[in-house]
Amino acid sequence: MKPIPSMLFAGAFLLMCGCGSKEAEGPLPVAESAQPAPAPAPGYSMEDFANLRKLDAHVHINVLDSTFLEQARADNFEVMAINVDYPDFPKLAEQRAAALVQVKADPARVHWATTFAVKGFEKKDWLGKVKAQLAADAAQGAKAVKIWKNVGMAEKDSSGRLIFLDNPAFSPVADEIQKLGLTLIGHQAEPYNCWLPLDQMSTDNDREYFKEHPQYHMFLHPEMPSYEDQIAARDRFVAAHPQLRFVGAHLGSLEYDTDRIAAFLDKYPNANVDMAARMSQVQYQSVRDYDKVRNFFIKYQDRLLYGTDLTLNPGEAGTDEQRAEFKRSAHEAWTADWRYLATPESQRVEIIKADVPGLALPREVIDKVYYANAVRAFALASQ
Ligand SMILES: [Zn+2]
Repeated sequence: MKPIPSMLFAGAFLLMCGCGSKEAEGPLPVAESAQPAPAPAPGYSMEDFANLRKLDAHVHINVLDSTFLEQARADNFEVMAINVDYPDFPKLAEQRAAALVQVKADPARVHWATTFAVKGFEKKDWLGKVKAQLAADAAQGAKAVKIWKNVGMAEKDSSGRLIFLDNPAFSPVADEIQKLGLTLIGHQAEPYNCWLPLDQMSTDNDREYFKEHPQYHMFLHPEMPSYEDQIAARDRFVAAHPQLRFVGAHLGSLEYDTDRIAAFLDKYPNANVDMAARMSQVQYQSVRDYDKVRNFFIKYQDRLLYGTDLTLNPGEAGTDEQRAEFKRSAHEAWTADWRYLATPESQRVEIIKADVPGLALPREVIDKVYYANAVRAFALASQ
């Protein structure tokens, strides 16, 4: 089976929506006693967006060009630029070179997650090479290591069986990552929608993608591992490495149900999740049960990392027009997410065909989700 291309980029861009009308706030409660109740801590507004230092924990900058960095500066973002063992991205050496250029250009703003090639994992010299490369990358400032969904969905062993994250080959790699003081970012499985028929999927971007790519639509491939098989293998790996800092990319592929994410975070204290390219799945839930989703963010305020999956690949920043378009779309994605998480404003999200009121999360929650949690999860302050 061919490796499955990421549809996350499309997901991130499809999130972008125009400004909705401002949600009217309810009347202020009237104090009945002489001592008025303390006012709730004020949340943030759209005006605060540019002022707060923020960190996008999941982006891909596969170019030497400064376009991404310029927009990150303009919108007051630091970024975690992630290399991926993904055949549709540039070769790993090129991704690494791009990351190093970006980090060097602004080390306080650009952080780097390296990766390693899974191919050849049964060869005798594979582990030694991977360990040497990770050590060299850590010495050059890498803060994390990404393992992609080719583990679980594409890579096979010499007997032709798919390999999973709990394959014994990855255990010494995890030990090395931990020893080097790095964090593992794991993207295993696919959105739950991938295992559903088209008419039961929650978002239009997933529906369109799997309609056009039936080969990757797991509902049509019962011979492939189930969604629960994928999640269980990932969970066994996380359980086997309790001292390893683990970030489950894309809400740990549990995006369809905040109860599932909560159970994962409860069970594995070393795990966090990033939100990259899954905000519409969260919005799908909050338009149905606003309080449940808002309470989830408040309860797990120490475990959630803001991220987008914004991606800039070679050939996408070659002209002034392309550079301006990327900046416009990145700004739009970042402000749309801020409107949803930080303010009470409503906005139209076409891929779920809904007007989505903002969660207006308390300031201290936003401060953690947008910055402090990433600093801790990637140990950025100590390195
Ligand atoms: Zn990504």
